[in-house]
Amino acid sequence: MSKERLKDAVRNIPDFPTPGIQFKDLTTLLKQPDLLRELSDILYETYRDKGITKVVGIESRGFIMGPILATRIGAGFVPIRKPGKLPADTIQISYDKEYGKDTIQIHRDAISPEDIVLIHDDLLATGGTMRAAYDLVKTFSPRDIYVSFIVELAGLDGRKVFEPGTKIDSILQM
Ligand code: AMP
Repeated sequence: MSKERLKDAVRNIPDFPTPGIQFKDLTTLLKQPDLLRELSDILYETYRDKGITKVVGIESRGFIMGPILATRIGAGFVPIRKPGKLPADTIQISYDKEYGKDTIQIHRDAISPEDIVLIHDDLLATGGTMRAAYDLVKTFSPRDIYVSFIVELAGLDGRKVFEPGTKIDSILQM
């Protein structure tokens, strides 16, 4: 199957949630069994041999393919959540958004220095969210960190917020 079929299945919603945003809706891809399987297979083939022990998913759309991938590569799953959602002791990071600030949290006992971590989210736009998640995971000093997206909005050049050499992969560039 070609990536064009996956790309074609992503629905573009103009001006959602605010004017000027071209929202990439993946639900039109995910609801198709053969395309969901293909997406899962691509992620599996990309990460199967990296020794990854924890997949970290960013709330909330990182919670869709994150656990599917974790199951297939034999890793655990760890959620990064918005404030006030995780019940035990957390560490957090705040970051600048286009308007105002945002904060994300992770359980303090979620990752150990022996882990090899993959952080997954559905989409790379400006990169602010993933950069914050990356910095949060880095505080655990894991053996290695990989970064994975389904869609990369190439025009926004979100990769520029990461240091050169960061292991970033996206499946579909739009
Ligand atoms: P950013 O921090 O700018 O890279 O934004 C990434 C986060 O916002 C991801 O969790 C995406 O789910 C969401 N997001 C940002 N822009 C879009 C878009 N155009 N379409 C769909 N989701 C988006």
